[in-house]
Amino acid sequence: MGTQSHQLHIAFFPFMAQGHMIPAIHMAKLFVSRGLEATIITTPADAPFIHKKIENSGTQIHIYTIKVPTVEVGLPENCESFHSATSPKMQAKFFKATTLLGPQLEQFLKQKRPNCLVADMFFPWATDVASKLGIPMLIFHGISYFALCATLCVHQYKPHNQKIPDFVRDGVENEFKNMHEEAMGALSRSYGVLVNSFSELESAYADHFSKVLGIRSWHIGPLWLGNEGDIEVEDQKCSIDVHECMKWLDTKKPNSVVYVCFGSLANFGDAQLLEIALGLESSGYHFIWVVNKQKNIEENWLPQGYEERIEGKGMIIRGWAPQVKILSHEAVGGFVTHCGWNSTLEAVCAGLPMVTWPLFAEQFYNEKLITQVLGIGVGVGAQEWTRVDREIVKSENIEKAVTKVLGEEAEEMTSRARGYAIMARRAIEEGGSSYSDLIGLIEELRSHAITRGTI
Ligand code: UDP
Repeated sequence: MGTQSHQLHIAFFPFMAQGHMIPAIHMAKLFVSRGLEATIITTPADAPFIHKKIENSGTQIHIYTIKVPTVEVGLPENCESFHSATSPKMQAKFFKATTLLGPQLEQFLKQKRPNCLVADMFFPWATDVASKLGIPMLIFHGISYFALCATLCVHQYKPHNQKIPDFVRDGVENEFKNMHEEAMGALSRSYGVLVNSFSELESAYADHFSKVLGIRSWHIGPLWLGNEGDIEVEDQKCSIDVHECMKWLDTKKPNSVVYVCFGSLANFGDAQLLEIALGLESSGYHFIWVVNKQKNIEENWLPQGYEERIEGKGMIIRGWAPQVKILSHEAVGGFVTHCGWNSTLEAVCAGLPMVTWPLFAEQFYNEKLITQVLGIGVGVGAQEWTRVDREIVKSENIEKAVTKVLGEEAEEMTSRARGYAIMARRAIEEGGSSYSDLIGLIEELRSHAITRGTI
């Protein structure tokens, strides 16, 4: 690879969770479409999933497998993906196990000599491994410029507000916090950052990130927009018949349905699910509501007779929904979201206003971007950053927020959202802002490789 051909070779090393692997696959495809060769570093457990997603992309994307040393940290051997670590204790051990991957990464880099490594923010140690070998390393956080700026400012200026995530508060010690601290430090030692965003969405924060915080970055998103073919592959994973779901939406008037989904990791307790059920029903709008099925096998969280009452008006999907397709349907007029960055960008690209209900990670920052900066959403009133036992948001608040986002007063918000959707598509077209940033980065990597004699 790299050393034998004139083709630039870029390697991606995503964290072992769907929300991290999917953008990495999109990035690999994007760079390959510009004539590079790409490798995705992953585990044997995740390799088949990645393989399925890249099988139509020709031969320019390779998969390189490494083994997470799970047993060494006291995890079961087959706990190779983050979602298999089902308790906070197991998750801490999983993070610990990933910090032991250095020698395997080094072996890969020595053997394949890529011209650039794009590593997940959860692998700050990779910066030093790459730099030892003189390989430029870009970090991928998978979050917005706004959240990047906020995260770094909180790290630097430590406001010590109790509302901030526990992984940034002083006095808290855990594996995740240590990793987060190192990730912040790795930023200034790396070659720069790749961002799944586009400049028209948050140009002030892109500027702040480079000019004030002093970190180079390239925005190359929205990543999934160039990869719409993947959505058909995603369909196979859905817990419902996608065709039936679309047919159901076809029977609804434009902008009459609210879509409710909290991403791939969130789990609500029965009391909260009950409030959501009641709030959606009393809003009077049609809805599609995705409920994480693992938690709710017993099905004692719905009011008596609820599903009969909502027949034809509401659809509950237990498990995985064809989110991107649902959001793009003209019947859908709003999205109740946990503000995960992928979901947020998907809503932006669909031109939809949002009800924001952040839970953890950088989602509270995303909420501020959506509601206060872009003006394309209304908060449900979630206050507490936590992964478990959170405050209950009442049905009245849910009803109120849904009505604000789908009702008449949402006209301005909706038209702003549609404006961003148009800008998103333009950004990835030839000559668009993300398109041009990508070309600029590739040219720079090429000159770097020529100077070093590695292509
Ligand atoms: N997603 C989906 N169907 C579901 C739930 C989630 O397709 O039922 C997809 C969604 O379209 C998005 C991703 O999973 O691309 C979730 O990523 P996000 O960053 O929004 O949240 P996370 O899961 O990382 O919390």
